[in-house]
Amino acid sequence: MKAAAFAYHDPASLAELLPLLGKLENARMLAGGQSLVPMLNMRYVIPDHVIDLNRLGELAYVRETAGGLQIGAMTRQRDLERHPLVQRKAPILIEALRHVGHVQTRSRGTIGGSLCHLDPAAELPGIAALTDATLHVAGPRGRRDVAMTRWTRMYMTPDLEADEMLTGLTLPVWTEPHGYAFIEYARRHGDYAIVAAACLLALAGNGRIARAAIALMGVDVRPVRLAAAEAALVGRLPGPDAFKTAADLARAVEISADSHVTKDYRQRLAATLTQRALTLAARRAQGGTHA
Ligand code: FAD
Repeated sequence: MKAAAFAYHDPASLAELLPLLGKLENARMLAGGQSLVPMLNMRYVIPDHVIDLNRLGELAYVRETAGGLQIGAMTRQRDLERHPLVQRKAPILIEALRHVGHVQTRSRGTIGGSLCHLDPAAELPGIAALTDATLHVAGPRGRRDVAMTRWTRMYMTPDLEADEMLTGLTLPVWTEPHGYAFIEYARRHGDYAIVAAACLLALAGNGRIARAAIALMGVDVRPVRLAAAEAALVGRLPGPDAFKTAADLARAVEISADSHVTKDYRQRLAATLTQRALTLAARRAQGGTHA
């Protein structure tokens, strides 16, 4: 099938784009097109206007800030995967990116598109949740920031008004030496995850866990942070006992079943992937480096 007719707009700058957002009814932004174009062709979405963001080079960037990285919405996933700043400051983002589709789709797909398409199993919203990212929104009425905890309004629906767009995000990075791990289970490489687990783990001088962050993807309409498991780990020695506690808490997460797998299977998968991710992150943390 082909897309229904729509008016095409390709602004050359944000200054040209923002006023358009206030005028055009039923418009969709086109970023990398890796999700939108199939949805247009299958007529899941029937916009009257498509606004092409691909001439907005000003929205493709990775910058270092005091507490982390500022990333433009139009930054290609593949560029992030190979970016030296990301390698140095947030290697977990690279480990997650390797699970996003294929090199071909990542060469066009953008971080902004992934955050706005907001598939419940998508890896990049999971990393944004893991790191407590802040998303930057703009529209004709001005700009605002949205905490990742508030970004998902409901299933595949970001906290954007009809005349707003995502311009970028700020991704906090852990400055202390820490380990990280991103592990997912998908039917085939490049498919969306059935479940994915991401974690960061910092150890104190006495070798005990000083700080932990754990995020699950694919278990709810939004990424789920395991706050209880994170708190339970602090002060514990990294190892099977502590990680079994976290896995048990992961298994207890209220999970929606779907046509792919049963609820019980997904819960068991969440527990297993959480345990594996923590084990790998601890090994990396004990190595004293990120990697
Ligand atoms: P587009 O497809 O252009 O847009 C996606 C949605 O976001 C649209 O609704 C669009 O209007 C909106 N949008 C885009 N940018 C903005 C903005 N700045 N402000 C407001 N709205 C915006 N993704 C995964 O996470 N994991 C996977 O495993 C995975 N596997 C894939 C496999 C294949 C074969 C393909 C084709 C895609 C796969 N994807 C996967 C999706 C891919 O990562 C997309 O790139 C991503 O979901 C959307 O990014 P995009 O830049 O292509 O956005």
